[in-house]
Amino acid sequence: MPNTVGFIGLGQMGQPMAANIAAGGARLVVFDKAGTAERAPEGATSAASLADVVAVAETIFLSLPDGPVSLAVAREIATISPRATTLVVDLSTIGPDAARDAAEILSGAGIGYADAPVSGGAAGAKSGTITVMWAGSGAEMTRHQDILNSFSKNQFHVGDSAGQGQALKILNNFLSATAMAATSEAVLYGLSEGLDMKTLLDVVNVSTGQNTATRDKFPERVLTGTFDAGFKTALLAKDVRLYLANVNKGNTPGDIATLISALWDKCDNALPGSDFTRIYEFTEKMK
Ligand code: NAD
Repeated sequence: MPNTVGFIGLGQMGQPMAANIAAGGARLVVFDKAGTAERAPEGATSAASLADVVAVAETIFLSLPDGPVSLAVAREIATISPRATTLVVDLSTIGPDAARDAAEILSGAGIGYADAPVSGGAAGAKSGTITVMWAGSGAEMTRHQDILNSFSKNQFHVGDSAGQGQALKILNNFLSATAMAATSEAVLYGLSEGLDMKTLLDVVNVSTGQNTATRDKFPERVLTGTFDAGFKTALLAKDVRLYLANVNKGNTPGDIATLISALWDKCDNALPGSDFTRIYEFTEKMK
């Protein structure tokens, strides 16, 4: 286990993950460019800059919005001196190309990189039950096992190369985005036939149409009217765009991804800043 751990990006996912790392007993230094002190979890030290984290943290976790931001931070880490950092673990969803670029930038400065995106949502980050898809050195994953256990329930070593974690993550989010969009349409059809939403979900959830939207997002966030899954439409639209771009590049089939990506982009344009569960309201208004 590294002596001191850094955490950059204390947003919907990062803040609770960092809180669980600190609660697990690691010495933790955190930084968020939107304001660190107000987001820093109990037990963590607030840094005034990224350089202050790099100066003391052997391993730095990132939970940042997208590829350009992760790459900018990786570039900065690679040039900062003095530097204690020997490994960067990127928990963000940035796509395979950005992960490969980040690995190359950091390796040029003698720093290791693990492409380790997460799944399970803000609720999973709070309860420490998220899944980590680690692509990179297996030995480093073993060395960080206690820290990984402090904020996640399931960890998988999915490959040795940067980009493989991202590939798995974006295909997962394509499936999740499809489930959410398709369930919105199916529920609206059911309501139009006079069915009750709760009854409809209860039946589907013990039948073959069940999925993450029917099991979790609809009963917990749509039926309740809270629309607070803690994941922005913009971020999911980004993930599906990344998936589609990579499918097109690799020449595997993408008919469904083309439709789903266009739909999430439209939803993001119509409802800027929204929680992704609001696709239900967006779908309702489309008719
Ligand atoms: P968010 O927008 O809530 O948080 C991102 C944080 O990064 C913000 O607090 C922002 O101020 C900070 N930040 C941005 N640029 C920075 C910089 N240069 N230096 C320091 N801090 C910086 O996003 P989120 O929902 O927490 O998601 C983070 C990542 O995790 C994304 O890549 C997302 O796709 C992925 N993800 C999110 C969820 C979810 O349910 N929210 C689930 C799995 C994966």
